[in-house]
Amino acid sequence: MTSQRYLCTAATVLAVSISLTACETAPVTGRNQLILLPEDQAVAMGADAFRQIRSKTPVSKDTRLNRMVERVGRRIVKVAQGPGYNWSFTVFQDESPNAFALPGGKVGVNTGMFKVAKTESQLAAVIAHEIAHAVARHSSERLSRQIALQGGLAVAGAASQTAAQYSQILAQAATLGVVLPFTRTQEAEADEIGVIYMARAGYDPRAAIKLWQNFARQGGDRPPEFLSTHPSPDNRIKRLQQIMPKALEIYRRNRR
Ligand SMILES: [Zn+2]
Repeated sequence: MTSQRYLCTAATVLAVSISLTACETAPVTGRNQLILLPEDQAVAMGADAFRQIRSKTPVSKDTRLNRMVERVGRRIVKVAQGPGYNWSFTVFQDESPNAFALPGGKVGVNTGMFKVAKTESQLAAVIAHEIAHAVARHSSERLSRQIALQGGLAVAGAASQTAAQYSQILAQAATLGVVLPFTRTQEAEADEIGVIYMARAGYDPRAAIKLWQNFARQGGDRPPEFLSTHPSPDNRIKRLQQIMPKALEIYRRNRR
């Protein structure tokens, strides 16, 4: 039994005891996911994280960049098989080339990202990748894994875990913050979902490869979201090339 299957089984025991669904399916890839965190809680945590970011980082007043991020973001969310998020797009005045999309639909792009994403299609690659993380509920999945490891496995042995104890586990997980580093599997998945979203929205998916080439040229200056658990740009580009024929076929139908 794979660890994911085992976690799903153990988590189902926990979930049944508190009436929650545990296993879901990621969009585009169809990967089996363990999601224990209730969606409304993830959305609340996303809103909280966004408030914290906004209190620390000034919003950019550059009209051209704001318009571009808004335009690209709207095109991507229109074709994403998203939860009914209330999407919003903010450009932050910050020279590190970073971007994020939080549970609930708050999307942020730093001004520094435009040093790497040099065209609108390359920006679409960034935003589509981040939106893919949000739509596939990768933050909730990471937290759920922790919840399962801390509580679910114990429950499998002692079926009398109460909802109160479960809430306690959730609260502990919440203190870790909603912006946990993603796993390599999740990164690969966000790349795959991202290029499919780009293609559906009428952006040339090959711009994703160009974006990673730009990052590779930048060397050590990769942003945190794109750094910690992320595969090297070379591996990433190889994988993107493998899924490119499928993405190009979709792009040719949706090209503007
Ligand atoms: Zn990522």
